[in-house]
Amino acid sequence: LNRRLAEFGTTIFAEMSALAVETGAINLGQGFPDTDGPEEIREAAVRALRDGRGNQYPPGPGVPELRAAVSDHQHRRYGLSYDPDTEVLVTAGATEAIAASLLALLEPGDEVVALEPYYDSYAACIAMAGGTRVPVTLRPETTDGRAAFRLDLDELRDAITDRTRLLLLNTPHNPTGTVLTRDELASIAELAVERDLLVVTDEVYEHLVFDTAEHIPLASFPGMRERTVTIGSAGKTFSFTGWKVGWVTAAPALVTAVRSAKQYLTYVASGPFQYAVAEALRLPDSYFADFRADMLAKRDLLAGGLERAGFKVFRPAGTYFITTDIRPLGESDGFAFCRALPERAGVVAIPNAVFYDHREEGAPFVRFAFCKRADVLQAATDRLLKLWK
Ligand code: PMP
Ligand code: GLN
Repeated sequence: LNRRLAEFGTTIFAEMSALAVETGAINLGQGFPDTDGPEEIREAAVRALRDGRGNQYPPGPGVPELRAAVSDHQHRRYGLSYDPDTEVLVTAGATEAIAASLLALLEPGDEVVALEPYYDSYAACIAMAGGTRVPVTLRPETTDGRAAFRLDLDELRDAITDRTRLLLLNTPHNPTGTVLTRDELASIAELAVERDLLVVTDEVYEHLVFDTAEHIPLASFPGMRERTVTIGSAGKTFSFTGWKVGWVTAAPALVTAVRSAKQYLTYVASGPFQYAVAEALRLPDSYFADFRADMLAKRDLLAGGLERAGFKVFRPAGTYFITTDIRPLGESDGFAFCRALPERAGVVAIPNAVFYDHREEGAPFVRFAFCKRADVLQAATDRLLKLWK
């Protein structure tokens, strides 16, 4: 393994899911739903397969039906207009969109400012592209009785240097569940314009925002459309993480650049699933509302259970993850805690420290996924309660 990748080892998701299988523990680690997305969309995939749509290499940028559906979705939800022919690119999941964007847009030595904790592929992809990551740490704060991880805009400003090429954002944010507010996004946009930065924004949890939180695409702020690469995922929005269909929307020059990298990574994304996702993106608003309401109920079920078990809970404004602080349980090392938890309690969780360069900042935080059936969440919290109460 080369020096660029040596520090990354095996992803925490593979490690922890393997541990779940080995020990028979309930897997609240890796973020994948235990219930598939809509039956009619599964049927759409079967139909595409059977009708021979997409069984041979689909077009490089994605099938026209899906590009049109992505464009219409951005317009219907956010009033953003993207030309399906020049401003939309279909990728093999958001993961490939992130990799292709960074490989296409970075020169060796360029700095990338990213929110810490960050989704694990960001660091590896920045490294593969020869870039340098510059983390800006989200820190726990309590306002109006609600604990959340917040961005310090001054720190963000200070992190930008003459070598900064791009900002890599993620909202709703994995693993903290923070959703950047309109004011925060407006400040980030101003900064990007002022310092002439590109922005890659990972918005895969765009439909999972709760309570009063609102998802606003960064591309919708003044001066941002032409400098922003926005990333979405059918895995997250339609609960088909195994299909690996994602997409990029951006101005033509940026899409062309990302596509140049993408064509040598996977060349194309899986054919029949693209047709099915095109139908999914056209589901009525009620699908998205029901999906959100279902996840909200699950959030509250798991958050309540974790609180009763003694964790400090950061009730997320978005995503399907809950970050907790384990110090009230008399624990302080999230890694040790998560490695022991399957044996001790029969539950798997993820130590947030893996998402930090400043590991000590993340040490006491542990992430639980709640995209699981209610009975599974209940069983998990029952197990945790027994152990600590
Ligand atoms: N970005 C974030 C923030 C994620 O949590 C995930 C997890 N799936 C991805 C990207 C990757 O998405 P996909 O499965 O579509 O590759
Ligand atoms: N995005 C998912 C998570 O954060 C996992 C995806 C993966 O396994 N790479 O849990």
